[in-house]
Amino acid sequence: VLSAAAASRVAEAATGYLDLEYDLSRGARGDRHSHLEPLLARLFPGRASLAVNNNAAAILLALRALAKGREAIVSRGELVEIGGSFRVPDILAASGARLREVGTTNRTRASDYEAAVGPRTGLILKVHTSNFKIVGFGEETPVAALSAVARKAGVPLVVDWGSGDLVDLAPLGIGDEVPVRRLLDEGADLVTFSGDKLLGGPQAGLVVGRADLVERLGRDPLARACRLDRLLIAALRETLAAHVRGRAFEEVPTLRMIAAGAEEIGRRAGRLRGRVARIAGPAAAARLRIEDGVSRTGGGSSPLGERPTRLLVAESPTGDAGGMERALRLGDPPVLGRVREGRLLLDLRTVLETQEETLAARLAAALAADQTPKRKLITSPSRTT
Ligand SMILES: *Cc1c(COP(=O)(O)O)cnc(C)c1O
Repeated sequence: VLSAAAASRVAEAATGYLDLEYDLSRGARGDRHSHLEPLLARLFPGRASLAVNNNAAAILLALRALAKGREAIVSRGELVEIGGSFRVPDILAASGARLREVGTTNRTRASDYEAAVGPRTGLILKVHTSNFKIVGFGEETPVAALSAVARKAGVPLVVDWGSGDLVDLAPLGIGDEVPVRRLLDEGADLVTFSGDKLLGGPQAGLVVGRADLVERLGRDPLARACRLDRLLIAALRETLAAHVRGRAFEEVPTLRMIAAGAEEIGRRAGRLRGRVARIAGPAAAARLRIEDGVSRTGGGSSPLGERPTRLLVAESPTGDAGGMERALRLGDPPVLGRVREGRLLLDLRTVLETQEETLAARLAAALAADQTPKRKLITSPSRTT
């Protein structure tokens, strides 16, 4: 969900004219990145930046521009697949760089990288293992130590940081997400990350770091093929502006949702139950309980990033929670909950306040429908409002 400011910028950009690639001060052709660059320069002082279509494109471009025909050194523990179809070895192969695996699945030390660098090395790549964690006997090489190896070998250290948070989430208990700025301070030469994960903006891929390397990425013919269109630039610009203002937790919906406390979510659940009672009566509302639960950021893309929440728990009198889940999912608008131990769980953390009324109506209908034998409902469709 985009911020209100980002959405209205998109509408403006879509329905009018803009100086996307026109330099108004010089009256000559301009550069589309000029709309993002000043904001990124404030978020990452002293670093250069580039924005492309998504993080996969950013990594592809970095590997191609810096390591085509050469080796990219990656830890065996970081050859990950991120949901869908992003696999690190496949992106590497597509870029023309050769994969040089080091270490083992659970442990990779600085000395493993050191032993692998040589005349054929193009770069060292570190990948955020976004959606899984090695628990137990594990060891990964921190960016600071990797940077020392890279510097000694004279090759760049590129970090694919996936979620790309600009804010520190540690105070919220999401401690495995290190802000991008810290990675740069610790010695990463380039960091790539998504625009639509923890940044809270539109689909985009950002590259931030050493100016000479960013320039090489920008010169690659693939850069044109991966460029952002004006609607995405408009949305990204407004999202970055909220971060620059230091107002991301207030203005960017993704971060506002992550930051919401259990108490606030519990209050909203109570309000929703009240709405259901008004629509469907106290018997239907009595099937809704409010209980402690856990929200997982990114639907599990940060496996250790759990936030306490208050769940709205719906009990089906027929015991068919699966049927109720299905009815809610296939209705209009679709409502997605999860079934656990024969009960349907809804977490209002990700429900917008403007959707609460609609959700209450759909929930009331689902709970009322469960009360009535299905045959009767079918014979009197005109009575439903
Ligand atoms: C999500 C993710 C990607 C892919 O990013 P897109 O913006 O979806 O292309 C790549 N690497 C990591 C570590 C990720 O978490």
